[in-house]
Amino acid sequence: MLATAAPVSCDTVLTADYLLTDSGETLCNAAVAVAGGRILALGSRQTILTGYRAAQCIELGEALIMPGLINAHTHASMTLLRGLADDLPLMTWLQKHIFPVEQRLTRELCRKGALLACAEMTRAGVTAFVDMYLLEDAVFEAAAESGLRMLGGEVLFSFPSPAYKNCEAALDCVRRQAEIWKNHSRVKVAVMPHAVYTTTPKLLEACRDLAATLDLPLHIHLAETPAETEGCCATYGKRPLALCREAGLLSPRTILAHCVDLTDEELDLLAESEAVPVHCPRSNMKLASGISPVPAMLKRGIPVALGTDGAASNNALNMFLEMGTAALLHKIAGLSPTCLPASSVLGMATQNGAFAMQNRELGRLKIGGPADIIALDLTAPGLTPLHSPISNLVYAATGHEVTLTMVEGEILYHNGEFTRLDIAALREDIRSAVRELTSG
Ligand SMILES: [Zn+2]
Repeated sequence: MLATAAPVSCDTVLTADYLLTDSGETLCNAAVAVAGGRILALGSRQTILTGYRAAQCIELGEALIMPGLINAHTHASMTLLRGLADDLPLMTWLQKHIFPVEQRLTRELCRKGALLACAEMTRAGVTAFVDMYLLEDAVFEAAAESGLRMLGGEVLFSFPSPAYKNCEAALDCVRRQAEIWKNHSRVKVAVMPHAVYTTTPKLLEACRDLAATLDLPLHIHLAETPAETEGCCATYGKRPLALCREAGLLSPRTILAHCVDLTDEELDLLAESEAVPVHCPRSNMKLASGISPVPAMLKRGIPVALGTDGAASNNALNMFLEMGTAALLHKIAGLSPTCLPASSVLGMATQNGAFAMQNRELGRLKIGGPADIIALDLTAPGLTPLHSPISNLVYAATGHEVTLTMVEGEILYHNGEFTRLDIAALREDIRSAVRELTSG
């Protein structure tokens, strides 16, 4: 009876010459049907076009359809500080350049910076990101406006920030944000203590309790540099991972940015805890923080995700650059061209990113899963020929080959046009924001 079955209605059908499947294989002459923000069907172009009647059908031609990339650690509003100061020792950079400007940030400035970040990420195929910053209300609003998926949190210090006067008020701020965004399908809230050196064990324990009570993820910078380890040992007589573990922070709900300075024993504990590390290779390289033991983590089955960190220490929020850098860095670090293959790196930016987002449905194209989809133009000279799509994605793509970005079935970017953001107006806003931040 199949031959006579009426076509099923859906919102959108995307067709392309190639589609990257869950298992890393490439389907030729493929299509995806999307309805209600989810993938209704995927398969051959002919099957989908016959079986589904779409409100809109987009023929992408010589293109590759793939899952959207997940930027698992960033500080979106820091786009305002991009290129402000580079190539300086960490403490000079932070104390003389970054902190003074950050003190002038307002909620409106943070919102503009975050919108710029969302535009940059949407343009280069990111569909979801994890964000930590001060005045995070502004970033939640920007993400909701842009249409991207986001897991965000107010950065929590044991000292005052522009968003709160003390630790109790900081935790109240998270409670309030969790309440505001609890029913939003794309914007989610997490508890985000900044790091062991800017908090106290007491605050970390309070963060653990709050995350457990509200059933929220927890995100912290951990073991970013040997200097962090030294300071932690001097203050508490233990290394950062041990401190976090004793505060009860290591659990499957925990996302750990950087994880550079870790011993083999600590990697075993990390694997046992099922916490998700986020590798930020360009930031680690630019700030000369060290090299995260990524191949050793992957070997232990730890789902290492990939992130850009903020634009002041990268300076791009471009996951294609991040993938290429990760793939190359570990080869030279281990003097081994086989230690981190392109397919593993792509997995870090997609399926492992889903662990960081605490939403295992993301990072893959699967029937019934969220329609977070991107497409790349394969007529770009730099992606020609196509011996291996995964090789081209990791080693050759720049992100500017992205022609379509879709989140939850909604097209946010297509053929140079943003559907939600007014880029000309945004650029004007950024010019005035930068004047306000840096004058006087
Ligand atoms: Zn960071």
